[in-house]
Amino acid sequence: MKGISARLAEINRRLASNFGVPEPGPHELPPVWNLVLTILSQNTTDTSRDRAFAALRKKYPTFPRLAAADAEELAETIRPAGLARAKSASILAALSRLKQERGGYTLDFLKSMPLPEARAYITSFGGVGVKTANILLLFSFGFPAFPVDTHVFRVAKRLELVPPSASPEKTAFLLEPHIPEGAHVCMHLNIIQLGRGICRPRNPLCLSCPLLKVCPTGAKLVSERSLS
Ligand code: SF4
Repeated sequence: MKGISARLAEINRRLASNFGVPEPGPHELPPVWNLVLTILSQNTTDTSRDRAFAALRKKYPTFPRLAAADAEELAETIRPAGLARAKSASILAALSRLKQERGGYTLDFLKSMPLPEARAYITSFGGVGVKTANILLLFSFGFPAFPVDTHVFRVAKRLELVPPSASPEKTAFLLEPHIPEGAHVCMHLNIIQLGRGICRPRNPLCLSCPLLKVCPTGAKLVSERSLS
């Protein structure tokens, strides 16, 4: 079997020729708003997160107003996202820390840091894990970070790109340096599209999959189905 870099390059080529090269789109928020969105996104659906974020921005349209919010009122505003008290506290603590440490509500200083250092800084905020930190670093700053969500994790396991015991975080760290240069957004979005429509959690549609030729699980499943 080819090395991991060559396999990822081929997977990227196959996905891009099947789905195209997607644009980053809705993630292009100013970085600190993206950090707030990231905190809201823990343990909830995208729809609930987006409802809470829209309500928050309506009530607190600027960072100084959000930073001065009453914690209980903020929790009430973001209730649709769940864990509202904890998320309210995390948002207020993040803004207060930025103001104290950096003199304002900015994350622009991350641009000059190496990726591991920038990621360590972002994950040091309460309520921000490796996946959501990678989303922020990739989409707000263009770092070559690789967010591994539930779809990317499942597809990576089925393609046997990582050991069976690898966690989502480990999967991100193992794959990230081997993604072709400039292809982190494209691969992240295209693998999600594959996972939603073709490499579904149950009954993956291997015969319609552009990765069948490079997928050990697909080869096994197709052979089992042809024998049954
Ligand atoms: S061949 Fe099947 S198991 Fe492999 S990535 Fe495609 S849909 Fe998933």
